Amino acid sequence: MGSLITAPSTSLVIDSIDTTVVARRYVRPFGISSGSSEVLASLLVQVVAGDRVGFGEASPMTAYTGETLDGLKSTVEQLLAPALIGRELHGIAGANAVMDATVRGQHLAKAAIDIALHDLVGTMAGLPVHALLGGAARPIVPIAWVVGLGEIAEVVDEAVEYAARGFTHIKVKGGVDPQRDLRLVRALRDALPDGVETSLDANEAYSRSDALPALLGMDDAGLSMVEQPLPRWDLRGLAELRRRLRMRVMVDESVQSIHDALAVIRADAADIINIKVLKVGGLFRARQIVGLAEAAGLAVKVGSMPELGVATLAALHLAATTPAGSVPGDLIGPMMVERDRTAPDVFDAGRGGSLSTPTGPGLGHRVSRGFRGVSE
Ligand SMILES: [Mg+2]
Repeated sequence: MGSLITAPSTSLVIDSIDTTVVARRYVRPFGISSGSSEVLASLLVQVVAGDRVGFGEASPMTAYTGETLDGLKSTVEQLLAPALIGRELHGIAGANAVMDATVRGQHLAKAAIDIALHDLVGTMAGLPVHALLGGAARPIVPIAWVVGLGEIAEVVDEAVEYAARGFTHIKVKGGVDPQRDLRLVRALRDALPDGVETSLDANEAYSRSDALPALLGMDDAGLSMVEQPLPRWDLRGLAELRRRLRMRVMVDESVQSIHDALAVIRADAADIINIKVLKVGGLFRARQIVGLAEAAGLAVKVGSMPELGVATLAALHLAATTPAGSVPGDLIGPMMVERDRTAPDVFDAGRGGSLSTPTGPGLGHRVSRGFRGVSE
């Protein structure tokens, strides 16, 4: 006897997982306190289930993430793909459970697959990925322009140029010399209109003794927030800085997991958490951290490694779901390189300081089966 009502299938079985490496030259070499890069190299991952396909991406910054391009490629191909292919996963949470049981850490490799699964399930359902994360909170996502390390005059020129284009938040990199950073912040504040907010990312590079005097000076100069001034493990030091400063303190390297986020919250070590989809192992985990931050009254910022179009789209979908008061995200990877064609319409439109929340199914990239559309 057949039933007149057929339950929708919740089955998710992966048939194949493939990878390819894509490299794009930065328009200007991108420098942070741990080193400088001329090329953004990323791993694209294709996940196929039946007649559906989804794409994910992960770009390692090895000094920051601890993962290399070769390492994450082999983790995807030799560990995660064999564990996932042909298995009844039920859904994205099930796939994350299998990946976590297969290998500890390796967040970038897991993120590439998690992003591809969100793309695939969104495409199957005819829904944008943000709908799978709880739905969008805003139609427009403001973004920050990020200027890497450089001569103060060059950094200020680039900041002024992007503020004039419409960016309302300029983030600069620092950390090599706190007194140079203080001079940079003063020069930036002199050059930028009051309505343009500034933040400085020290990428863990200050010591406890040199951070406070320099940051007190930046407080007086009008810096809005400092990102990861101290090493990721120094939650006490971060909490102490937070008590002494008017500006808001953001953590980035300190939060690589939901457990790290809870530790930061318990230590009162930050006002803002920078959540990167790749760093925390994918969209499923990233959305859990957004929830933790919201419960604790912390703001969030959606960051980037930087990444090419597929991973930056994943970050855009996440940013669209974040609460009011979120800090503009660093979603500019595709604008920092030459010829990233994976989602050109979305990011070419972002050169005025904001991105539109995507409305089509899946992530909204232009890549198709066999990685067609990646190169042209
Ligand atoms: Mg950072």
